[in-house]
Amino acid sequence: MQFYLILKSLVMLTAIVAAFRLFFIKLKRLYSIMMAVEGKVEPSPFNRIKERINVLFTDVLGQSNVRRKKLPGISHTLIFFGFLAIQIHSLELMIRGVFPSFDLLHIMPFIYSKYLFLADIFAFFVLIGFGYALYRRLVVKPPYLTMGRDANLIIMFTCVIVISFHFINAIQSVTTVQISVFFPISGILASFLNLNSWSSGWLTFMYEIFYYIHIGTILGFLIYIPGSKHLHLLAAAPNVFFKRLEFEKAIQKTDIENEEASSFGLAKVSEFNWHNVLNLYACTECGRCEELCPAANTGKPLSPKKIIHDFKIDLFDQADALLTMASLPEPSKNRDSILPIMREGSEITHDVLWSCTTCRSCEDVCPVNNEHLDFIFEIRKNQVLMEAAFPPEIQETFSNLENQSNPWGFSSDTRADWCKGMNVPLMMDKPDAKVLYFVGCAGSFDDRGKKISQATARVLQKAGVDFAILGPEESCNGDMARRAGNEYLAQMLIQQNVEIFNQYKPSMILTGCPHCYNVIKNEYPQFGAKFKVIHHTEYILELLKEGKLVSQDKNFGDITLHDSCYLGRWNNIYTAPRKILTEINSGKLIEMDRNMSKAMCCGAGGARMFMEETIGQRINNVRAKEAVSTGASMVCAACPFCITMLNDGIMETDRQIPVKDIAEIVDEGTV
Ligand code: SF4
Ligand code: SF4
Repeated sequence: MQFYLILKSLVMLTAIVAAFRLFFIKLKRLYSIMMAVEGKVEPSPFNRIKERINVLFTDVLGQSNVRRKKLPGISHTLIFFGFLAIQIHSLELMIRGVFPSFDLLHIMPFIYSKYLFLADIFAFFVLIGFGYALYRRLVVKPPYLTMGRDANLIIMFTCVIVISFHFINAIQSVTTVQISVFFPISGILASFLNLNSWSSGWLTFMYEIFYYIHIGTILGFLIYIPGSKHLHLLAAAPNVFFKRLEFEKAIQKTDIENEEASSFGLAKVSEFNWHNVLNLYACTECGRCEELCPAANTGKPLSPKKIIHDFKIDLFDQADALLTMASLPEPSKNRDSILPIMREGSEITHDVLWSCTTCRSCEDVCPVNNEHLDFIFEIRKNQVLMEAAFPPEIQETFSNLENQSNPWGFSSDTRADWCKGMNVPLMMDKPDAKVLYFVGCAGSFDDRGKKISQATARVLQKAGVDFAILGPEESCNGDMARRAGNEYLAQMLIQQNVEIFNQYKPSMILTGCPHCYNVIKNEYPQFGAKFKVIHHTEYILELLKEGKLVSQDKNFGDITLHDSCYLGRWNNIYTAPRKILTEINSGKLIEMDRNMSKAMCCGAGGARMFMEETIGQRINNVRAKEAVSTGASMVCAACPFCITMLNDGIMETDRQIPVKDIAEIVDEGTV
């Protein structure tokens, strides 16, 4: 026996040292790759530590995003906490393999006995969680879930670890009378197998078998993790911790004046920043992002899950070249040794890149807070600024923006024509107006948009608001150019508006368009314009609350509400439009199946409004069909682009119900 224990100690010590060595070698390589990339994380994520710790608690320990999908969320939570719970006992068993007398129960009997009791229950939770995961994989088979060898191996590894854990506990519960009370689940297993009737020699033999299975699988798993999708076990927490808080809803500003910059945007994996790489490591391949992506759901070649996976493959394929480049001093670095992301035969094609509507569903739902749009925006930037590669139809839009400051090319002098005869003042005539109503391009030039602006102006006048518009002094907000990758043009437009804003210094900027709202509120501060920005839905609600607008309790029929991406997911405004509709309309508010944070995009964002949609189904048609299928007699939205897209979509359905902006309903339904 003594000889066996010495032999076991030596075998275990060798196995543990070898496994940990391999694990750390793999980990070191992953870390080196992360540090070899040359992009900068801006702003630095080593700030606001308290907030970041909070996010760790809610998103990682609280599993907040995971739990948004009910059953898979519960299943993941059971697996997560169950697997965490058994680690201390497994570690103790591992140490005991080398030092047989090591026994935590003797060191801290009270705490450890309670822990063993709970760990035994939590271990069983893992099996329940995996039971559901297997059912999902084998029976439900959601199309967005990766069903590869990797996932199956991981399920197998984990189940073996937990089952052997229960067997070890079960045998211990009968071989050591003192601890029989500590294993509620394994105790049942011991009774079921009638372990009490087994001879002590047989029990010892089976204990050793399960011991080696348990520790061997843990060590195997340890070596396997860094090369598998379960790398997220290590990367998810730091990925969440370092997520962008500062400009969460803003595109990063590129210093286009930098004469030393040899390139703008993202062209190669070597230009990722370390947080981009952490995103790739953290992906669990759960497919939630793909499930909600309007492009993926309408037959486009874009899948947010796949692009993350493809970047990871590209990064690993080029890791040797990247590490060699990073190891050399500056003059010897051969950056040409790294191949471009958008190369011949790449999975990231132009159709993939330009299919994105920037709806942010993918980021919003991702359980590890991946930032897919950082990649998409930066690659678009590179394609437009460095390669002049973009869908040909937006060339004209870029020219119109550059020459007339609106995407359609209407003369910028006519920007205030929509309010002729309405007695709407210009800021140049009323520079001390309290509210600067930023009308936007759609509201100024598009026929449908103009009606919404007129309704908004009437509502403001009715409520006695002291407001004025910029008229010809207003430029396009820059959102469309920015999201289409034309950072140069976007910054030109933004600067023009920033100068005017800083000249008038309004106490509030009101917008009717969520794109204007988002860019002015979240991105203009990068250019030195920090103002209070409010969307008309929030402002109208305030006016109603203050009694400056009074509902006539009209019946507009049953209304369904479409949440605009840039109002909802980008800015978390969901309740204001709903409250307004409930207050103004005596009919019902009927929710579509996909509403609020899960609402489907109308297809216009990310400059898609100005591009052809030739692949798959039209996104606006799918959304319009969903709206009509609610049985509502009207669709409401709070964005001129959504209104146009839904209107066009509804034309293709067999029940052509009206589409109205909230401002129009308020205009008609209040005094
Ligand atoms: S990016 Fe996020 S949501 Fe998409 S598959 Fe990976 S972990 Fe899941
Ligand atoms: S932002 Fe929207 S369209 Fe773009 S990849 Fe994400 S989910 Fe798909």
